[in-house]
Amino acid sequence: MKVMNPGKPSLHVFETLESEVRSYCRSFPTVFTKAKGYKLWDAAGAEYIDFFAGAGALNYGHNNTVLKQKLLQYIQNDGVTHSLDMATEAKEQFLELFHQVILKPRGLSYKIQFPGPTGANSVESALKLARKLTGRSTVIGFTNAFHGMTLGALSVTGNKFKRSGAGVPLHHAVSMPYDGYMGDDIHTIDYMENYIQDSGSGVALPAAIIVETIQGEGGINVARAEWLRRLEKLCRKHEIVLIVDDVQMGCGRTGTFFSFEASGITPDIVCLSKSIGGYGLPMALTLIRPELDIWEPGEHNGTFRGNNLAFITAAEALRYWENNEFTKEITDKGDMLNRRLHGMTASYPQLKGQVRGRGLMQGIAFDIGGLAEQVCERAFSKGLIMETSGTDSEVAKIMPPLTIDRAGLQKGLDILEQCLKEIASELGAGLNSR
Ligand code: PMP
Repeated sequence: MKVMNPGKPSLHVFETLESEVRSYCRSFPTVFTKAKGYKLWDAAGAEYIDFFAGAGALNYGHNNTVLKQKLLQYIQNDGVTHSLDMATEAKEQFLELFHQVILKPRGLSYKIQFPGPTGANSVESALKLARKLTGRSTVIGFTNAFHGMTLGALSVTGNKFKRSGAGVPLHHAVSMPYDGYMGDDIHTIDYMENYIQDSGSGVALPAAIIVETIQGEGGINVARAEWLRRLEKLCRKHEIVLIVDDVQMGCGRTGTFFSFEASGITPDIVCLSKSIGGYGLPMALTLIRPELDIWEPGEHNGTFRGNNLAFITAAEALRYWENNEFTKEITDKGDMLNRRLHGMTASYPQLKGQVRGRGLMQGIAFDIGGLAEQVCERAFSKGLIMETSGTDSEVAKIMPPLTIDRAGLQKGLDILEQCLKEIASELGAGLNSR
């Protein structure tokens, strides 16, 4: 008989019944039972601060009280739950609010497609539409990009491990260097432009270029606003569809609702998912410039494109964006986070950490292999949930719910600092004993 550790919930059921593909339950080896705001609790009653926020799906926190009330009320009244893409009152309300609160004040005009509930669903629809629009097949993606696990999305994803899972060649995609990838001296837009303009480059004129303004999974690499503007210009010049994948950086993660607002660009297509549903409920959008909306009715169908429970919470979550208060709040907390992270890297220079990111998407990239993983593992043992990012898991990533209060943020950062302090002192002891 397996002897259980009475202080730690057993993962026996998961280890025996669930596929080997499971991942996050390996990084955070406990059984969670309850969640509220920026906190989670496990079956042993241990409390955790959540600096992971469902990989960006919980920007408004766990079980947000206001969203929950709306959801409970809707269910209580037998509101429609599933409706394919039929017209429902819940969807109508969401569409109107999204137009009024998000698009109109930003001077944006997009048709709204419901592509199926995941980020990858949105990316696939964007790639398909760009190919249909241009009659071209190649799509340019970037080094260290992440766009999802379906074949089209994988074809424009950089990570070798994830790509090799496809089991088939990933065609019709070309990878180009992201901003900063080739060092400070090479502007990678110049490099790309040469490839696109030169008929001897071997790279066909692409249907689309798909880009993340900050690469969340790829190591919190931030594209400069000027780089994004030049990318947009390049796309306009060659009539290439510009797709911004805002699945992780959208819905306020970087401060503004869309991550590209600060750069002033207007993408042709925008992919949104994760926090658009507001409550962690599955939902995604593909935003399309109206003149590019050449879909035939039903040409890109799917059963789960009408998650009305998500429409209810998504509509309510948009109220956070009715004025500039939320952006100001995220920016202030982001500044505080940035100051503290810089303080930590300065206090422990032997860890060779470098602060990256913007808003409430920041992290520390470590030069020492395995260190970010060690930091996250130790953080978990002290009641803080955070994940690594980057191809070699070299970045310890901090992305709390945007609604976290300053005290919660400080408390989580205190734990992180304690971890760095301990690791630095162990590293010092190790070096001294050599
Ligand atoms: N695009 C980006 C930028 C992402 O970060 C992710 C998920 N991490 C996806 C697409 C894929 O989203 P999903 O896992 O919902 O398919």
